[in-house]
Amino acid sequence: MVLAELGGCISNALRKLNNSSVIDKKELGKCLNEITHALRDADVNFEFINRHINNIKNNINFDHLSEGLNKRKIIEQAVFNELCSLLNSEKPSFTPRKGKPSIVMFVGLQGSGKTTTCTKYARHHKKNGWNPALICADTFRAGAFDQLKQNATKAKIPLYGSYTELDPVKVAVEGVERLKKEVYDLIIIDTSGRHKQEASLFEEMRQLEQATKPDVVIFVMDSSIGQSAFDQAQAFKQSVDVGAVIITKLDGHAKGGGALSAVAATDSPVIFIGTGEHMDDFEEFNTQSFVLRLLG
Ligand code: GDP
Repeated sequence: MVLAELGGCISNALRKLNNSSVIDKKELGKCLNEITHALRDADVNFEFINRHINNIKNNINFDHLSEGLNKRKIIEQAVFNELCSLLNSEKPSFTPRKGKPSIVMFVGLQGSGKTTTCTKYARHHKKNGWNPALICADTFRAGAFDQLKQNATKAKIPLYGSYTELDPVKVAVEGVERLKKEVYDLIIIDTSGRHKQEASLFEEMRQLEQATKPDVVIFVMDSSIGQSAFDQAQAFKQSVDVGAVIITKLDGHAKGGGALSAVAATDSPVIFIGTGEHMDDFEEFNTQSFVLRLLG
């Protein structure tokens, strides 16, 4: 189910309340059942859905609602609030400092859009007054350095990397040391991915995290991976201290559930979304407008 469909189904469920002459516990139950199905079809993690649907049920107490109140509006507001809370992590969103170097490490599976997103992130911050530089610590995949170089050149972002050094930790540490001495206040490390979650990938990430001590680790996730989103995000979180999430490919056939599940699994906020292959297809994530857009 694509994102727009998820929103459509939830809106539909809410609209049906208009047609009921009496809005009571039973009608609310029917409406929440439909919303539960819509969220499941959009690949949101089951446990996560149940917790939030129960919150809505507990927040609406028909015995305490006086006659004159617009119950449909109250239910709509409760659903809106809960969808926002589903996407809101307790953790504050990370913003790099200006003037003093912040180190940002990107992690994610191969193909998630990590390398593209590193450059998009750098470019976004450059436009907003930061002075970013990139490090290619992906020594695993042949061609990774060239790919990042191509993107970085297009976006006019300086890049540190090596064609010969095979130790990603060495490249990252040297890169951070070098770039810190220069004028950069946002040092972005692109790490290698694998096609699937592998012990070797997680070990490499841990070593890179220990050696470069990033201010934030950003987990990049492809929004179209279905129910495995929760487990994948959790596996990354268990290996490194993920502090923020970027969801890619929220254009085209993207599913909405991935974003919701990644937040639940990492307990970290979504900070940006990728909405296409182009460098400028990148948006700051805003929970309320995301939910408003979702509900149309
Ligand atoms: P990596 O292996 O994780 O570094 O992934 P890449 O950055 O190489 O991206 C894999 C593919 O996904 C490339 O073809 C990108 O152009 C594409 N891609 C990345 N982000 C987006 C996005 O937000 N939307 C779409 N449609 N494609 C994207």
